[in-house]
Amino acid sequence: MGLVVQKYGGSSVADAEGIKRVAKRIVDAKKNGNQVVVVVSAMGDTTDELIDLAEQVSPIPAGREFDMLLTAGERISMALLAMAIKNLGHEAQSFTGSQAGVITDSVHNKARIIDVTPGRIRTALDEGNIAIVAGFQGVSQDKKDITTLGRGGSDTTAVALAAALDAEVCEIYTDVDGVFTADPRVVKKARKIDWISFEDMLELAASGSKVLLHRCVEYARRYNIPIHVRSSFSGLRGTWVSNEPQGDQKVEHAIISGVAHDVSEAKITVVGVPDKPGEAAAIFRTIANAEINIDMVVQNVSAASTGLTDISFTLPKSEGRKAIDALERNRGTIGFESLRYDDQIAKISLVGAGMKTNPGVTAGFFEALSDAGVNIELISTSEIRISVVTRADDVNEAVRAVHTAFGLDSDSDEAVVYGGTGR
Ligand code: ADP
Ligand code: ASP
Ligand code: MG
Repeated sequence: MGLVVQKYGGSSVADAEGIKRVAKRIVDAKKNGNQVVVVVSAMGDTTDELIDLAEQVSPIPAGREFDMLLTAGERISMALLAMAIKNLGHEAQSFTGSQAGVITDSVHNKARIIDVTPGRIRTALDEGNIAIVAGFQGVSQDKKDITTLGRGGSDTTAVALAAALDAEVCEIYTDVDGVFTADPRVVKKARKIDWISFEDMLELAASGSKVLLHRCVEYARRYNIPIHVRSSFSGLRGTWVSNEPQGDQKVEHAIISGVAHDVSEAKITVVGVPDKPGEAAAIFRTIANAEINIDMVVQNVSAASTGLTDISFTLPKSEGRKAIDALERNRGTIGFESLRYDDQIAKISLVGAGMKTNPGVTAGFFEALSDAGVNIELISTSEIRISVVTRADDVNEAVRAVHTAFGLDSDSDEAVVYGGTGR
């Protein structure tokens, strides 16, 4: 008998009908002879609604109580799903992240999983139950406080449980038919990818393709857990993400795997920084001490007359206020003239292992953006990715232009979005 871990995202369980539909799929997997562990997200936009609510009572909600609040969303869906399964005549038990043995560090709101001890899940399965686990949450090893894993974290819960339970596959059910060459909400002619390597998927996820969370792909690669991304609304086969293609998984020898975009970042420019050793270090130490991860960094050439330079960097919008406050507090020791904050930016990335060996990809990318009249503000590259920052208003047009320029458009409009608000 095989063991499968299935994860259902918020859009798949948005309402009572959705929960009943998903319950049927789960029961089918059980009837096919599998032991089934299900990880479930909060219903629809519940997490966003809880965040909105928190913001009404506290300007920048964070920390322990914020995690207590947000984990309530997954508690609701896990219990309802277990009830719906029981109603179909099968045994199911729901578990919080803590009960399922998801042990994390103690960084509230973006905790990392450090161990999974799924004893109770094993017992539930051995007794013939379907086990339902609340995604996105755990318990901290030292303080035994409830933590959350960061937005989209249920994907990571699923892969971590799959690894701990030695599952054959981790199935991620969502509101599109798999991983596409671009976000189907933006590019109707995006193509479904049959198989993609962990390496390329990691870059797509890190660049904003939220169909899979970056940490979840990292985890899957480390423990070599194949992921099957597919729709909970259709019976279609989806996208396999793994080290090597298996069986009939089609490999496309395209240079480019896809185009990703991200509108969740903001840009801070530190204006008038003395151009001398130690300045960049002081700025980024300040940001690091505030536990903020940054993405791109650019330093302008200093004006000869003043000896001052500007340093810009991007970071999640959700950390913007915290970063500005931290820099302002240390203005005296760092020494800069002013700060500029810009949250009307977008990042567009082109990803593909083939670009390592194919000259002209960068030129083609910039040409496509220029033909679309899109101005580039920042650039960063890795071996298999090029990213640029543009105005947020230009993002959809830019993604479509690049998708077409690299020959990724499909002949049909196969990219269907079944549900969800894309929030
Ligand atoms: P869930 O609620 O199931 O976790 P998410 O909203 O987190 O779903 O992720 C699914 C969404 O990811 C899709 O609706 C789609 O808009 C978006 N997306 C972004 N890039 C891609 C891509 N390359 N392929 C498929 N979906 C993508
Ligand atoms: N409910 C959480 C969120 O919306 C976690 C998840 O859906 O994966 O971010
Ligand atoms: Mg998600």
